[in-house]
Amino acid sequence: MRVGIIGGGVIGLGIGWRLAQAGCAVTLFERDRAGSGASHAAAGMLAAGIETEPGERDLFTLNHQSQALWPDFAADVQAASGLDIGYRTEGTLRIALTRDDAAKLRHELAFQQSMGVALEWLTPAQAREREPYLDAKLAGAVFSPADHQVDNRKLAPALAAAFSKAGGVLREGQKIERIEIEAGRARALRTASGLHEFDVIVLAAGAWSGLIEGFPPLPVRPVKGQMLALQMNPAAPLAHHVIWAPGVYIVPRADGRLVIGATVEERGFDGALTAGGLLALLDGAWRALPGIEELPVIETWAGFRPGSRDDAPILGASGIDGLIFATGHHRNGILLTPVTVAAVTETILSGVSDPRILAFSMTRFQKRQQAA
Ligand SMILES: Cc1cc2nc3c(=O)[nH]c(=O)nc-3n(C[C@H](O)[C@H](O)[C@H](O)COP(=O)(O)OP(=O)(O)OC[C@H]3O[C@@H](n4cnc5c(N)ncnc54)[C@H](O)[C@@H]3O)c2cc1C
Repeated sequence: MRVGIIGGGVIGLGIGWRLAQAGCAVTLFERDRAGSGASHAAAGMLAAGIETEPGERDLFTLNHQSQALWPDFAADVQAASGLDIGYRTEGTLRIALTRDDAAKLRHELAFQQSMGVALEWLTPAQAREREPYLDAKLAGAVFSPADHQVDNRKLAPALAAAFSKAGGVLREGQKIERIEIEAGRARALRTASGLHEFDVIVLAAGAWSGLIEGFPPLPVRPVKGQMLALQMNPAAPLAHHVIWAPGVYIVPRADGRLVIGATVEERGFDGALTAGGLLALLDGAWRALPGIEELPVIETWAGFRPGSRDDAPILGASGIDGLIFATGHHRNGILLTPVTVAAVTETILSGVSDPRILAFSMTRFQKRQQAA
């Protein structure tokens, strides 16, 4: 089977890798460099537990399925690529700095525990045993042992290497202008250099998925996030866990980078960094970990989450024969990579929609429109 994939983020690369392993002839088109989109900008948190919110039951299930797949997926990617991906299992701490924060956190904890998420309430002393540099005002914390992290800037290159080693063809610097559809079937991809024919086409172009011509517009929009990184001494890091504080999260990497994120902004593809955005991130991080004050700022950046109309991914059959969607992963695309890759690959190989992604097909928007 000849498969053409649009987009070399973690989603397109992961699907391409598994399809190439299964014997498909896969060509992946990336208009820039592989892994340069949201997959580069992200924080790499695998936060299915701490992010559990009311009203997202299908997404809750998908997030947890993917989280459970992560340890084996990480081992497989590392073995297939020969590259480390910085998968870390210390877990996540969500902290409260005031009594009001603590009351809110306890309230959310009760809901999350009622959903079966394994979380633990920590007193300030218990939280400080885990993270001694947390601010003295600490009022309590929730510990989520299963919310791990991966270094997304290592993950995408590792997936690209695994994809190429499995026989996939990676075409960087090649933008897909249009999907050619004839008699209700997707047949080819058009680039500036010509037409490329395939049996199956996978759209995995992240926040840009709605911009490709040739088929009805997809409800995917860019959701901007500003981030910054500080440099810690890797031999004496200020933090070991992923830490969520009010308005900000803090993610320590093994090389001493301390990633701080992220704003959530509806500004189209405006990638400007703003004083207000960076100030809010630094202020939130400093209130949680005052020791960051002396650390050098080593990078600032903005990225675009691929948000769908209901903020859940759009996966599987498109309603057009031969065209499969794998997009709209919004703020959890790194977390959702293993389940997306497994389910979309299975759907393509078997020709039958994988049950794990049935609730995330494009038809859910059409059904809602009809019901309205
Ligand atoms: C600031 C920020 C923080 C985040 N933090 C986390 C986190 O902690 N945990 C988590 O799970 N998720 C996080 N996310 C979300 C996560 O990054 C995304 O959901 C995920 O990376 C989506 O992967 P993707 O492969 O679909 O998209 P992308 O990585 O954006 O890849 C899409 C690729 O398609 C290419 N492309 C676009 N149009 C075309 C075209 N016409 N032709 C060819 N190529 C094209 C682009 O160049 C791009 O490389 C974060 C995102 C942001 C922005």
